[in-house]
Amino acid sequence: MIYDYHVHTNHSFDSRAVMSDVCAEAVERGLQEICFTEHYAVNPVLPTYGHLDFTQYLAEIERCKQQYEGKLIIKAGIELCEPHYMQTQYEEALAHQPLDFILGSVHNMNERKLRLFLAQEGIDHYELYFREVLHMVQHADIDIIAHLDLLKRYAVGNIGNYKLSDYEDVIEAILQTAITRHIGIEINTSGWRGGAGEPFPSREVLQLYCQMGGELLTIGSDSHFVEHTGAEISDAIQLAKECGFKAIYTYNQRQPQAVALDKYYFDKK
Ligand SMILES: [Zn+2]
Ligand SMILES: [Zn+2]
Repeated sequence: MIYDYHVHTNHSFDSRAVMSDVCAEAVERGLQEICFTEHYAVNPVLPTYGHLDFTQYLAEIERCKQQYEGKLIIKAGIELCEPHYMQTQYEEALAHQPLDFILGSVHNMNERKLRLFLAQEGIDHYELYFREVLHMVQHADIDIIAHLDLLKRYAVGNIGNYKLSDYEDVIEAILQTAITRHIGIEINTSGWRGGAGEPFPSREVLQLYCQMGGELLTIGSDSHFVEHTGAEISDAIQLAKECGFKAIYTYNQRQPQAVALDKYYFDKK
C-alpha cells in the first residue's frame, strides 16, 4: 500500500497537470491511493485567489473515481493559504464542500511571498515564520500542517538552513498544539527535489514530533507535474519508520484512519 496525499493539478493556479493523467501516472507507479490537494485562498490579494472552481474540481474527481474504479482510491482534499486569517470566509466557503482532507499552509508572510519576506533585513526570518505556523495551528480548522519548515526552500540560497536547537521552543509549541488539537504533520518530499536537499520538515523535527507522542502523519509529494506523482514516497515511508512512527494516515471525510507502516511495501518501477 503506497499513497500520495499532496497532489496538485491544473485546478491549482501553479500547475498544468491534467487530473486523469495524474491518476494514470499514480497507477503506473503502483500507488493505491491519491489525495488531490489544490491550492485555495479566500484573500483576494493572494495569487491563489479566484482560481479554484469547486464544482468543476469535484466533478472531475467524480469522473476520475469512475474511470479508475478498482484501480485507484481517489480523495478530494485542499491546501489552504494562511487559514488562520479570514476564518469566517474560509468557513463559509468550505462549509458545504465534501472534502476528505484539509492541509494548512503558510505560503505568505504579511500577504507577501516567502522570497520577498526573506529580502527584508534585520529580522529573524525563521522565528517569525515558525510563529506564523504556530498561529495557524492554534486557530485554523485543518487536518495537517503542510511542509512545516517550508521557509528553508527559499532560504538555502540566502540565509541558509536552520538548526532545530535554535528554534526548539517555537517548534515544540507548534507540535504540542498540533497534538492537542488533533492536527497532524506531513512528510513533504518536494524538499528532496529542491535546493533544501531534505524533506519538509527535517528528520529532527519528525523525530521530535514522534517523541512528543505525535501520531497523525501523512506523506505527500506536493507534485505540480504529472511525472512527480508519488515522487520519493517510498523514501518518506522509510524515513517515517526510522523516526519511530508506526503508522501513516489516510483521511475520509476528514476522519483519520491509521495504516500500519509494516503493511507498506515497495514496488519500485
Ligand atoms: Zn504548499
Ligand atoms: Zn502543495
